[in-house]
Amino acid sequence: MDLALSEEQEAVRKLAEDFVAREVTPHVVAWDRAENVDRSIVGKLGELGFLGLTVPEEYGGSGGDHLSYCLVTEELGRGDSSVRGIVSVSLGLVAKTIASRGSEEQKRQWLPRLTSGEAIGCFGLTEPGTGSDAGNLLTRAVRDGGDYVVNGTKMFITNGTWADVVLLFARTNDSPGHRGVSAFLVPTDTPGLTRRTVHGKLGLRGQATAELVLEDVRIPASCLLGPEGKGFSLAMSALAKGRMSVAAGCVGIAQAAQDAAVRYAGEREQFGKAIARHQLVQELLSDIAVDVDAARLLTWRVADLIDRGQDFATAASKAKLYASEAAVRCANNALQVFGGYGYIDEYPVGKLLRDARVMTLYEGTSQIQKLIIGRALTGVSAF
Ligand SMILES: Cc1cc2nc3c(=O)[nH]c(=O)nc-3n(C[C@H](O)[C@H](O)[C@H](O)COP(=O)(O)OP(=O)(O)OC[C@H]3O[C@@H](n4cnc5c(N)ncnc54)[C@H](O)[C@@H]3O)c2cc1C
Repeated sequence: MDLALSEEQEAVRKLAEDFVAREVTPHVVAWDRAENVDRSIVGKLGELGFLGLTVPEEYGGSGGDHLSYCLVTEELGRGDSSVRGIVSVSLGLVAKTIASRGSEEQKRQWLPRLTSGEAIGCFGLTEPGTGSDAGNLLTRAVRDGGDYVVNGTKMFITNGTWADVVLLFARTNDSPGHRGVSAFLVPTDTPGLTRRTVHGKLGLRGQATAELVLEDVRIPASCLLGPEGKGFSLAMSALAKGRMSVAAGCVGIAQAAQDAAVRYAGEREQFGKAIARHQLVQELLSDIAVDVDAARLLTWRVADLIDRGQDFATAASKAKLYASEAAVRCANNALQVFGGYGYIDEYPVGKLLRDARVMTLYEGTSQIQKLIIGRALTGVSAF
């Protein structure tokens, strides 16, 4: 097994690293304090092809394999998880789903705009009353002639206030649980759709997280994505691939924690020598380093399985579970290395910890990942 990157993959990774150093890193603290990433970053991500990775070139995508997608996602996560999330959702959950499940007309309508950054997508599954138990969502889409009329509320929607289109999941019949759920592409300027920014997040403070309220939103039947009643399996397959992207973002957080902690440990002196020379500080650093490597290898394996057309869903859950928990541990250990200075936002590690914390919660909590892995091992579903 060859774990070396090809020249092309290394070039994409370097492009992302340079982009982050130039366009992201100088603004990270200000965006975090202002609770607002500069929206112009979206066009810049599009210009470099980062919003079109793995999408076919005929629809405006930049092609490439899933390992390249992981490398870019890791570099963005190393810079700012709020920026990484824009790509993971607009490309990873929305554009890639349109590319794989959309009609020709839907692909032509949305993909060139989403991959260039002219438009942004969001993924509307979670509701106030249904998070882990997403199959029991309450939003309804009722057929009315050639239209559907949609009513409901979506909660915690990443890119929500910025998005031009929402990949929305709604109940189209009274079948119990997930069987009655369908997927729709709803333009966010449709009358009746309103958005409210969710403020006060612990981390990802620069990200546009929103509550979406739909009141008698009338959309043509051509907005249906995939067959009626098959929306839940479409959502689950989007999330399975999405977990690789979250895992890669977590590797980025963990790597950033390692870089910062190693640098600081070499500079800071206590008891007459650099703290890096104290064995218990070295233990913190080595715990971080092992977590970084393990998380990265689990994540790259998912990319390899996808690119070879193999089953990847359980591997994606393992990678997401491990990488998200590892990102929290690494950021926390890095904060310990920084001592009191780690607690101040002039230094990077406090934000890394705040941003990492949500990774064990969204796109399936750690408990849900364990249930998915347990089901694959035993053949018995605990859901
Ligand atoms: C910043 C942010 C961004 C988000 N972005 C999006 C987005 O773009 N689109 C979207 O649709 N959603 C999004 N979400 C929602 C996210 O996916 C949900 O918060 C998540 O799925 C958990 O749902 P919940 O918050 O309702 O928690 P709950 O489902 O209420 O879970 C609460 C606790 O119970 C545990 N639990 C639940 N069921 C079980 C079980 N069967 N066995 C064991 N333990 C269980 C959970 O693991 C958790 O610890 C986002 C959330 C946040 C915070």
